[in-house]
Amino acid sequence: MLQADKLLQISRIYVEPAAAALPRGQEILARWPQADVVEVASHWRIPELSGDEANVNRWVRIKTEALVVGVKKSLTAKPNGRSADFIAPSTANGCAMACAYCYVPRHKGYSNPITVFANIEEISGYLERHVARQGIKLEPNQCDDTAWVYDIGENSDCSVDALVSDNVQDLVSLYRDLPTAKLSFATKYVNRDLLSWDPRGQTRVRFSLMPEKLARMLDVRTTPVAERIAAINDFVEAGYEVHVNFSPVIITPHWQEEWQELFAQLDAALSTAAKRQLAAEVIFLTHNQQLHEVNLGWHPLAEEILWRPDLQEIKRSQNGFANVRYIAYEKRGYLDEFLRLAAAGLPYCRIRYAF
Ligand code: SF4
Repeated sequence: MLQADKLLQISRIYVEPAAAALPRGQEILARWPQADVVEVASHWRIPELSGDEANVNRWVRIKTEALVVGVKKSLTAKPNGRSADFIAPSTANGCAMACAYCYVPRHKGYSNPITVFANIEEISGYLERHVARQGIKLEPNQCDDTAWVYDIGENSDCSVDALVSDNVQDLVSLYRDLPTAKLSFATKYVNRDLLSWDPRGQTRVRFSLMPEKLARMLDVRTTPVAERIAAINDFVEAGYEVHVNFSPVIITPHWQEEWQELFAQLDAALSTAAKRQLAAEVIFLTHNQQLHEVNLGWHPLAEEILWRPDLQEIKRSQNGFANVRYIAYEKRGYLDEFLRLAAAGLPYCRIRYAF
């Protein structure tokens, strides 16, 4: 069975009437004509989709079989400044994959299946006007030297979203004609359909990578790391800018060797053209107590790696969540070591930012 068929076997679609009336909503419903269609007043509160936190089989089934189609109401591009200048209004949220450390807000309960927004024309129009208002980028920054970068994958994985609707392709086509701006999204899934979209350098795909052994345990339902690496040259050749997202960096007893191996694997796989345009971002693991407790119920082995009170400190957020990160003064040392290893293994790879 193809990976795409394993990820998504949609049998029930929850749809807001306003979304069903839009052309994109109709196209999505027509993709799965055999699915039960359930009308919902809002894509937010659908109790049967919450899933039981401790029952992984149940929520993975929800991820695979359920799809929500709604209308994105608030359209705003939030200033960011780290991986992108702006976070674009999402065209989807939720994910069919199930990484153990996933920070994508679990608005729809633990299972967090994909919600796709049907008002793509409104979203595209908003973005086009927003880009026009920025004018030309005069000062280079860590996001990009010349283009305003818009991240469209903060709440979902766009390569998987592209299996559900044409929203992502529509935005790639839009940005092709916006020379002062660039689209960007991080992904852990290789969707080769994207290779025919002709992005003409205006879309940056950031393949997320971590050492293979860890990814096999933590990146549940994603494309294997070796396959993600193997896709990079093809994406560059197809007109994408391709960066890598080294994240999350997790401290294990052998983390230095594991990352050195990954850098060597990447170096051996990349074409000259891919190396020439490569850049990376580095993000160390943050975790939280709530997620830790949920994970103990289905994936305790992952928690042996993610939850390390001996190395981590807790910082309470304003909404009361206990967020966990590596102890600040130790982390500085890990970060320096990581950057040293990356410079040795991938000397041509600019690090856009690391934290
Ligand atoms: S692929 Fe991204 S959005 Fe999906 S579960 Fe993994 S970390 Fe979360």
